[in-house]
Amino acid sequence: MEYLAATSPGEVTAALADGDTAVLAGGQSLVLDVTNGDLRPGRVVDINPVREFAFLTETGRVLRVGPLVRHRTFETDAVGGALGAMLRTIVRHIGHPPIRARGTMPGSLSYAHPAAEWPVLATILGAEIDLVSHRERRTVPAERFFTGPYATVRRPDELLAEVRLPLLPAGTGAGFAEHRPARAKFAETAAMAAVTVTGGVISAALVGLVNAGPCPVRARAAEKALCGAPFGDAAIRAAAEAAAEVDANLSGYPAPERRGKQQAVRTLTRRALTQAREGL
Ligand SMILES: Cc1cc2nc3c(=O)[nH]c(=O)nc-3n(C[C@H](O)[C@H](O)[C@H](O)COP(=O)(O)OP(=O)(O)OC[C@H]3O[C@@H](n4cnc5c(N)ncnc54)[C@H](O)[C@@H]3O)c2cc1C
Repeated sequence: MEYLAATSPGEVTAALADGDTAVLAGGQSLVLDVTNGDLRPGRVVDINPVREFAFLTETGRVLRVGPLVRHRTFETDAVGGALGAMLRTIVRHIGHPPIRARGTMPGSLSYAHPAAEWPVLATILGAEIDLVSHRERRTVPAERFFTGPYATVRRPDELLAEVRLPLLPAGTGAGFAEHRPARAKFAETAAMAAVTVTGGVISAALVGLVNAGPCPVRARAAEKALCGAPFGDAAIRAAAEAAAEVDANLSGYPAPERRGKQQAVRTLTRRALTQAREGL
């Protein structure tokens, strides 16, 4: 396997043009896959020397995230406001400190692990993802980016060049709850929520489920149960029930394990929403 350390964006897209080159970002998934023999790219292009890729900027109402923004960045106060608070709430549940110090948000989106946190966050926020090849640049909404476990619409010659996360309005509380068997493992199930309260009632709600189907799940039925209601226990209970509805959310989940998954989704959604309320 050939190794190439790229120093410019153009070098990266030129290297990817052969369709048999893998991007090396944080290496926290790629190195394991290559070591285990699950992946055999002809070449690896290391993007770590490309300084331009480390950008993290707020423009208008969006946060622009470059290919070399590490998970760890979101543990700091690099991002302010309600979105920053939500990122900080979620990030500490990703792996453990060495993984967060190397792994990147765009790497996690590209890898599309069914139990990863960032793909669900990007989906419920309505993020946009820019893909760049030596031929063109295109933008894909996050809800159309993920096509299955470890599968996305990204073509082999494309770099995930930028993720744009919409900022959250003031008055938004965020919550996250997970069931995870061990510290260094992915979550078995998790729920995340961002709830905005205006004039005493819920004016907007985003609810996402991690590892509850082949693709990231946005629990729209739960969001609907929340909107327009006061943010009390009754609304939280109704939303948790709606999140656990098979027809609404868990139909893509294998039937034999569905009952346990439903129970986990119900409990974790309730906890995530309760935390969101406390964070207001
Ligand atoms: C023990 C362990 C526990 C973990 N726990 C969690 C967890 O709880 N939650 C979680 O979300 N993740 C977890 N991870 C995964 C971690 O978050 C990885 O960092 C992440 O999945 C991949 O990011 P990376 O930057 O390391 O990418 P890499 O490992 O470098 O790359 C991963 C894949 O994406 C491709 N790629 C990377 N960047 C780009 C890009 N910009 N454009 C195109 N393709 C790209 C690579 O070619 C490769 O196929 C865990 C990993 C380990 C080893």
